[in-house]
Amino acid sequence: MAALLEVEGLTKSFGSLRAVDSASFAVEDGSITALIGPNGSGKTTLFNMITGYLSPDGGHVRFGGREVTGAASGSLYGRGLTRTFQQARVFTQLTVEENLTVAAGYSWRQLFGRRLSRADRERVAVLLEEFRMSHVADLYASELSYGQRKLLEFAAVLMSQPRLVLLDEPTAGVNPVMIATMEHHIRERHGAGVTFLIVEHDMPFVMRLCDPVVVLDRGHEIFAGPPHAVQSDTRVLDAYLGS
Ligand code: ADP
Ligand code: MG
Repeated sequence: MAALLEVEGLTKSFGSLRAVDSASFAVEDGSITALIGPNGSGKTTLFNMITGYLSPDGGHVRFGGREVTGAASGSLYGRGLTRTFQQARVFTQLTVEENLTVAAGYSWRQLFGRRLSRADRERVAVLLEEFRMSHVADLYASELSYGQRKLLEFAAVLMSQPRLVLLDEPTAGVNPVMIATMEHHIRERHGAGVTFLIVEHDMPFVMRLCDPVVVLDRGHEIFAGPPHAVQSDTRVLDAYLGS
């Protein structure tokens, strides 16, 4: 497998705090890669730099073999790199269906004028069906449970037909049934060719779903390997036990 995403020496400081400290790892095309690490180890900051929400102080990001360091999030989205947020970001004042529609890049004016291409209309219908959300299509996102909002956010990023999806804690604050649903949809899309990089604290979820696992500690990668090796790695145990 070839690397779809390469992170090399990525660094970001907030004042005197080095949140990400020369982090390097690769996400192979076709993998479901996990990024784990204790709270505050820099996982979200890394996601923010990879997806154009923060500019790095140093280092490189390559996507599909091209340098994309510091590229804007919109431009990356257009190239097939997208993400969800630790606190799900959906438009609560729009309906479920409208959330999917704006994710296709339509302006609010086009949205309210119902000027959608047939292909996009079909894609919205397919996603509503696939995510079993047809019955809530006309509900405002504000009326959904937190878990349903996370699912909607995931469905919405798929409107761009991405090659790589970064999920920031997809199961956090979500009930067990919804966790299983989330896992099902990740597997389905992975089967259809989408590559994933997932930040997650639920270890059974990571062990079932992800290979390889990259471990971050104080902003730097300390381990990258198969899931069965991670639990017995002394550097990883030390990082989690705080010694
Ligand atoms: P993780 O996602 O692994 O829990 P984060 O990337 O959110 O970690 O945070 C890494 C460190 O950087 C933490 O100490 C956090 O408090 C700090 N941090 C994150 N974002 C900011 C910010 N915008 N300003 C200042 N400090 C920040
Ligand atoms: Mg985080």
